[in-house]
Amino acid sequence: MNSEFLASCAQIIGQDHVLTSEPDQQAYLTDWRQRYTGKAMAVLLPTSTEEVAALLTLCARYHIPCVPQGGNTGLVLGSVPDQTGKAVILSLKRMNRVLAVDVSNNTMTVQAGCLLENVQTAAETHQRLFPLSLASEGSCTIGGNLATNAGGTAVLRYGNARELCLGLEVVTATGEIWNGLRGLRKDNTGYDLRDLYIGAEGTLGIITTAVLKLFPQPRASLTALAAVPSAEAALQLLNLARSDLGPTLTGFELISDFSLQLVLKHFPLLKKPLDSNCPYYTLLEISDHESEEHANGLMESMLAKALEHGHATDAVCATSISQSKTLWQLREHISAAQAMEGKNIKHDISLPISDIPAFIKMTDAALHAAFPGCQVVCFGHLGDGNLHYNVSAPVTMRDTDFIQQQQAVNRIVHDRVHGLNGSISAEHGLGMLKREEITLYKSALELSLMRSIKGALDPDNLMNPGKLL
Ligand SMILES: Cc1cc2nc3c(=O)[nH]c(=O)nc-3n(C[C@H](O)[C@H](O)[C@H](O)COP(=O)(O)OP(=O)(O)OC[C@H]3O[C@@H](n4cnc5c(N)ncnc54)[C@H](O)[C@@H]3O)c2cc1C
Repeated sequence: MNSEFLASCAQIIGQDHVLTSEPDQQAYLTDWRQRYTGKAMAVLLPTSTEEVAALLTLCARYHIPCVPQGGNTGLVLGSVPDQTGKAVILSLKRMNRVLAVDVSNNTMTVQAGCLLENVQTAAETHQRLFPLSLASEGSCTIGGNLATNAGGTAVLRYGNARELCLGLEVVTATGEIWNGLRGLRKDNTGYDLRDLYIGAEGTLGIITTAVLKLFPQPRASLTALAAVPSAEAALQLLNLARSDLGPTLTGFELISDFSLQLVLKHFPLLKKPLDSNCPYYTLLEISDHESEEHANGLMESMLAKALEHGHATDAVCATSISQSKTLWQLREHISAAQAMEGKNIKHDISLPISDIPAFIKMTDAALHAAFPGCQVVCFGHLGDGNLHYNVSAPVTMRDTDFIQQQQAVNRIVHDRVHGLNGSISAEHGLGMLKREEITLYKSALELSLMRSIKGALDPDNLMNPGKLL
């Protein structure tokens, strides 16, 4: 039966685009962090919506599970198949065309397999900005960004991927094509199907095309790094920046001193731009629609006020694009530096911004009490209430032994997140990694409503089974 299925797939997309040998499949089977390798019957590489629809019709007929895959940069094991070898991976990477740009409507229509970086560049060639920005932008796809409702570094000003999408085309689990490619800012005509598919991690259908929102390009961008004496002071600085910089404030990142030290240790070419040592640093980005001079003036006067009030103890403004990139590199190298230090237990958590200092204090204390000497690498998008709060082994313990404590560490961190009405997944999704964990924190009713939606849109449970729910 499988050979009949595969032969039919080959008739639709050509034999060369049905990968069945292990070496051909290798790049699609293992997750980005190389923690998990699944098995697949085949990797399918269609080039059009019609081909995706024909393939999903076949999957429904032969009862073959389907794992949608974009750039395979997801961090929660959502884009890789399980170990059974029964599923196919449907990779969107050959569906990578920008279909239209409507400058007056400030929209762009793109196929789901377009790399995020290429979407940004295409917007730029029309003097527009597509503001979604992630460190994985050279590898991740817009379909994956929407399926995970990706966040990134400019959420504070422009919102998550959900806010940046006006319309979708989706192939349903039964192989029908829903054309919702509307470039409308207002459309109150019933349940919002677009919002159902966004963030569904490929469990309801396959996003094949999207209408994205574009914005005017700012005339100037400016980055600054400020040393702050505490997480409370970082919050005060954020409040000051919001009121003094207004909508120009685009990003506000928190970096703990320990995180920065790891970057400096493992990437010696990156230098710390401030002499002083502080428990935390904040990286601020503004985008200005007047001029560079105006941006400089705004940032400098805000930082002067922050220094005067003690919200910051030292600060530096980038004076060139390359300096600005260097400041961002300090932030973007934290995950890699921590990985070079050893395995660690990661958390991508969301909290009311006002509760973040209290959360850090109580959770640090609880972790140190339970695992004396453990090391917390705390950084993230403070302006969005999103922390990456990763815990490494005490120096006296092997990282592989510490990883065995994942459940206990998760309880300490996630119970406190839940206690503050936060979320255990801010921007990465649930995938396979947090599928069980979420059942501890969502109400029975919420989970049951989610299962009803899944059952209605994918009655045979063929779309990315075992993920999210
Ligand atoms: C270095 C690095 C930095 C990162 N930084 C961030 C960050 O700042 N913010 C953030 O949010 N994430 C971040 N990520 C995570 C990741 O890049 C995002 O989740 C991204 O949106 C995934 O896109 P992708 O194309 O790689 O999707 P994949 O990893 O291929 O898939 C992710 C999920 O989406 C589903 N999917 C993929 N394409 C489709 C489709 N067309 N239709 C339906 N379902 C689909 C998959 O089945 C899977 O469940 C980072 C990852 C790395 C490696």
